[in-house]
Amino acid sequence: MSENPALDDRLTVVVAAFNEADSLPLLQPRIARALDTVREEHDIDGRVLYVDDGSADATWPVLQALALADPRIALLRLSRNFGKELALTAGLDRVEHGAALILDADGQDPPELIPQFVARWRQGYDDVYGTRLVREGEGWLKRATAHAFYRLIGRLSKTPIPADTGDFRLLSPRALDALRQLRERHRFMKGLFGWVGFNRISLPYHRGPRLAGASKFNFWRLWNLALEGITSFSTAPLRLATYLGLLTACFAFAYGIWVIAKALLWGDPVQGWPTMMAVILFLGGVQLIALGLIGEYLGRLYEESKRRPLYLVDVWQPAPGVCSGQV
Ligand code: UDP
Ligand code: MG
Repeated sequence: MSENPALDDRLTVVVAAFNEADSLPLLQPRIARALDTVREEHDIDGRVLYVDDGSADATWPVLQALALADPRIALLRLSRNFGKELALTAGLDRVEHGAALILDADGQDPPELIPQFVARWRQGYDDVYGTRLVREGEGWLKRATAHAFYRLIGRLSKTPIPADTGDFRLLSPRALDALRQLRERHRFMKGLFGWVGFNRISLPYHRGPRLAGASKFNFWRLWNLALEGITSFSTAPLRLATYLGLLTACFAFAYGIWVIAKALLWGDPVQGWPTMMAVILFLGGVQLIALGLIGEYLGRLYEESKRRPLYLVDVWQPAPGVCSGQV
């Protein structure tokens, strides 16, 4: 939040665009109209920040032409294609004052809803996130895998990540400020928004088809995004290795004891086999347990290396006698 509260009453719409030359001219007038409405209804100054994520088509000249026609438009161009998550981070880093609203460049997130997001923000919510009611123009396979992914990550991760929620959302100045403190390199935005917390509310909406062009997220990219989400927001896979190791080691030890007992009781018909088996099973078991242990420490190291703040404060109300209010 800035020192001048008046500057907090601003809204910046951040749009990441990668090869969206055909969609942008259709999208911008809709955003402009939405910002006019926000101005009339809530007396809030609206702007747009387009981030060109290293597009190879005419996106950049198109954006420049749009910016010439409307002084409310700011442009940022990345040196190459860094992917949506980093393009959004770059955009959000440059929002100096007020709230930020994230919107897809392809028109799948209707700009007409912006006034509703702002209304929730003015009611005191910090994180207003759009929840998709329907996904048009997306096959059943994508819908089914997306559904499964949200359920899985919801179970694995301690961070609340609402299901069927994309990046279409509004962040209040303090939520934006908090998000900017998370500087980890592997950025799974949906998880980071969830980590920030504060007052959150869902805004259900109808997700339409793209205005033009094709989705940039094929299955391989989505799979990688899912892996990113799971490994960034949970050390459950590492834990799994620990338990698997322990379980296998238990079986190995039990079987090793059985092999030794059999040799002691009934002799050793294949010379040396029981000894060899016992040594192999013992060493295998010890190695698996050690690997699990290393995994546990690695998990902790990984958590530390993200250097996230330990907590964020929503309200701090000091009382005389308890604490002075000075921190
Ligand atoms: N995008 C981006 N960089 C990329 C890929 C996508 O900035 O490397 C942008 C893209 O221009 C669009 C948004 O991210 O504004 C969502 O992409 P897309 O519509 O392809 O994804 P989908 O809606 O199919 O999940
Ligand atoms: Mg899209």
